[in-house]
Amino acid sequence: MTNTWIVAVSPQISALIDTGRALGGTVTAVVAGTDPSRFLGVDRVIAIAAPEGVPAEALAPSVASAVAAQAGDVVLVANRPSERVLAGAVAAKLGAPILTGAKVIGKETAEISRYGGVTQQTISLAQPVVLVVDGGTAPSGNAAASETVQAEPYAATVTSTDASSVAQVNLSAAKRIVAVGRGFKSEADLQLAKDLAAAIGADLACSRPIAEGSGWLARDRYIGVSGQHVAPDVYIALGISGQLQHTVGMTDSRVVVAVNSDEHAPIFAGSDYGIVGDIYTVVPAITAAVK
Ligand SMILES: Cc1cc2nc3c(=O)[nH]c(=O)nc-3n(C[C@H](O)[C@H](O)[C@H](O)COP(=O)(O)OP(=O)(O)OC[C@H]3O[C@@H](n4cnc5c(N)ncnc54)[C@H](O)[C@@H]3O)c2cc1C
Repeated sequence: MTNTWIVAVSPQISALIDTGRALGGTVTAVVAGTDPSRFLGVDRVIAIAAPEGVPAEALAPSVASAVAAQAGDVVLVANRPSERVLAGAVAAKLGAPILTGAKVIGKETAEISRYGGVTQQTISLAQPVVLVVDGGTAPSGNAAASETVQAEPYAATVTSTDASSVAQVNLSAAKRIVAVGRGFKSEADLQLAKDLAAAIGADLACSRPIAEGSGWLARDRYIGVSGQHVAPDVYIALGISGQLQHTVGMTDSRVVVAVNSDEHAPIFAGSDYGIVGDIYTVVPAITAAVK
């Protein structure tokens, strides 16, 4: 490997840097329309500078040209909306394949998770290739030497920005997560999980039905194949059955604790500690015990 490219809008690229380091060679970040000094831990930064108000996606041609000008071996892009647009532009410019869901990236092959983890495919990498994977967190490290390229953006300008009333969470950085599922009978009952989360300093997450069906929690809090991927030290699953579409998003957790009234619930198969019981009695008991 001679060079790994990271195409980024957000500095939350620690997992991409780790992959680049494992592949060997240098790691260069191409940063679209944002402050390049926030991108730590790489060897080199190419900043695509744009006039105020130009959305990152409009910089796609310039980002693609910067990568193509000094083609490397692999291009890594975090699985986030703006970055996915840039990934497509880079792949088109390079005439390279673009692959999503890679769990293991080697020098010659990538293992790709398909159908929410039902199958794993091993794909031989004919270089170059663009891989869309989990970005990770904002790394520490030294600021790299930075060079600036003036963008020739598409004609798009942000004319107004309204802050969402819903606070955004980055669960991929969470060390402890308490996740709730349909075992909870009402939105008010989530207070039991919130109390436990507050007691142990955890973030609150959920299964998809709690966010997309009931709407009890924001959509950026659900875990799974179509939600967030997390890797906390502790993941406490409360009233979650453990369907594959959910577990594929939390399988990298270091320790999994599950509470479920059904002893045959699939969540127990992937748990380090399982409590067969009613969340309405078990959760307050755990909260009281840790306080
Ligand atoms: C294309 C597709 C994509 C999907 N993507 C996702 C995704 O990204 N994330 C996701 O989470 N899901 C996803 N799903 C949905 C997924 O298949 C499951 O339906 C969902 O994860 C189930 O959520 P749950 O475990 O909260 O609910 P259920 O499966 O209904 O499980 C509820 C659990 O609570 C237990 N329970 C009930 N009462 C109590 C009690 N009092 N005490 C203790 N336990 C109790 C039950 O025994 C049961 O195991 C997707 C589905 C499809 C088709």
